[in-house]
Amino acid sequence: MTSLSPGLYIVATPIGNLGDLSPRASEVLAHADLIAAEDTRVTATLLRHIGAKRPMQPYHDHNADAVRPALIARLAREAVALVSDAGTPLISDPGYKLVRDARAAGHPVVTIPGPCAAIAALTLAGLPTDRFLFMGFLPAKQGAKAAAIAEVATIRATLVFYESGPRLAATLAALGDGLGDREAAVTREITKRFEEAVTGTLSTLAARYADAPPRGEIVVVVGPPGEAPPASAEDADAALAEALTRLPASKAAGEVAKRLGLDRKALYARAMEMKR
Ligand code: SAM
Repeated sequence: MTSLSPGLYIVATPIGNLGDLSPRASEVLAHADLIAAEDTRVTATLLRHIGAKRPMQPYHDHNADAVRPALIARLAREAVALVSDAGTPLISDPGYKLVRDARAAGHPVVTIPGPCAAIAALTLAGLPTDRFLFMGFLPAKQGAKAAAIAEVATIRATLVFYESGPRLAATLAALGDGLGDREAAVTREITKRFEEAVTGTLSTLAARYADAPPRGEIVVVVGPPGEAPPASAEDADAALAEALTRLPASKAAGEVAKRLGLDRKALYARAMEMKR
């Protein structure tokens, strides 16, 4: 590849191990007319690694609104690559408004996918991956953190959080309080020399890190809630009695069967008994 067609290129970069930079990412970075970088010093190191030197423009939370219009204007004639300090841009990093505005202005948007700490952590944790919810960073303040956790307490999915060492123990304790003592994993320094994944319940992990905040970058993965215990005969009777005040027996049985995961025919028979 010697030149890139004009447009916005979203380029994922390594989260630790420079060997994870894909050949395609390397090509795009080496040939972009401009690289919009979260921190140009960090990106300069990456460019040195691939032996490239390209013009860079800082694009971060504090200047994004001011510089975005000029970047969008350049997309008409130039290939602009967006990178963050590590991993996939837009994932707990700036970029979504740039993509939104590039699309709105009719410019091509191309992605060069690659490392992402959240996805890498899921591959290490050994927790269900069929459904997961990326939560990014929780708020630092205790009340707001508890509220954010409460909001997702009933979601039947594995939860993924970004966190820092000094805040880890408090966050694990807050997660245990809000979600119950679920299975979890603390993954740390992924793809780097001291990569590790420590698994256990939220309470054992909170105790482990209480007096020993770990160094480095961290992703916490929390398993989904356990299966709810089966509804008792009393629960079923109470739900049926209530439903029968609103619905005929067959509909009441159907509604309760769906809600409590019980057999509709048995519930219908019980509803007829109750009506008598
Ligand atoms: N855009 C990045 C991505 O795709 O993963 C995430 C950027 S976010 C500002 C930085 C956070 O990602 C860190 O605080 C940490 O929680 C997580 N992270 C980044 N690199 C990591 C690594 N090598 N190991 C564990 N967590 C990492």
